[in-house]
Amino acid sequence: MLEALARAVLKPFDTGLRWRGHEPETPSLALTSLGTAGFTLESQGRTVVIDPYVSRPTLWRALTRPLVPDAEAIARSVPRADDVLVGHAHFDHVLDAPEVCRQTGARLLGSQAVAFCGLAAGLPASQIRVTEGNEDIESGPLTLRGLPSVHGRVYFNRIPLPGDLTAPPPWPPRLRDLPHGQVLNWLVRTPTHTLVHIDSADFIDEALAPQRADILCLCAIGRHARPNYTRRAIELLQPRYVVPCHWDHFFGPFTPTPLEVPKADLAGFVEEISAAGATPVVLAPGDTLSV
Ligand SMILES: [Zn+2]
Repeated sequence: MLEALARAVLKPFDTGLRWRGHEPETPSLALTSLGTAGFTLESQGRTVVIDPYVSRPTLWRALTRPLVPDAEAIARSVPRADDVLVGHAHFDHVLDAPEVCRQTGARLLGSQAVAFCGLAAGLPASQIRVTEGNEDIESGPLTLRGLPSVHGRVYFNRIPLPGDLTAPPPWPPRLRDLPHGQVLNWLVRTPTHTLVHIDSADFIDEALAPQRADILCLCAIGRHARPNYTRRAIELLQPRYVVPCHWDHFFGPFTPTPLEVPKADLAGFVEEISAAGATPVVLAPGDTLSV
């Protein structure tokens, strides 16, 4: 009922915005959207997954029941992973990550709060790498680095579910059991490219300033609460490509045409990215940017 109402009022995204750029014959990096803030990055035979979230219970279910990762949907969407990076411990970033690691044997990387989620879900400590950021972590020929960040303000100019975890939460968790904990933006360096992933609409200028990115995944929802958000992120990181993330409605199963979450204003975001001098790359869930 609640879900049907949400779907009736949410705007389907304009498929004309979709990325139709040139694909190189021998790409050295492929970035595939998983929807929400999730991506799979493949490079040098290595698969790095960021913020996977494909279980997508309906809004009603998410508000009234424990959140159970959908093992089948995860196996379908994320069949391979070497490392799984999580930006913060909200359910739409962390919920599926331990199950991806369980199925693939991948390492789980994130804050102490993310590590508590991994332990709660039954992952052995040896499969979890806790980081507070500001350190390079090897991943085969790639390098992973957390950049300390802060959570954006979303609706009503508030940070949703603030706070931290001091112990493993119940698992499966309820939505309210998962405060964001420490927030990290992830930097992934391959021998050919650098990618930065900002999974909620805020950042710390000093943490981004020393870095450059060829590709920037940038959160759409909540960006109006941070003055000059898009322009400043692009000014600091000087990306060629900016991939909007966290713009699609993530309650309920995937639909052939994704719906925009309220206030995502994807078309406006695309204009902001172009005006700041970068190339916007809109990926619907399942779409890939190859470079
Ligand atoms: Zn969040």
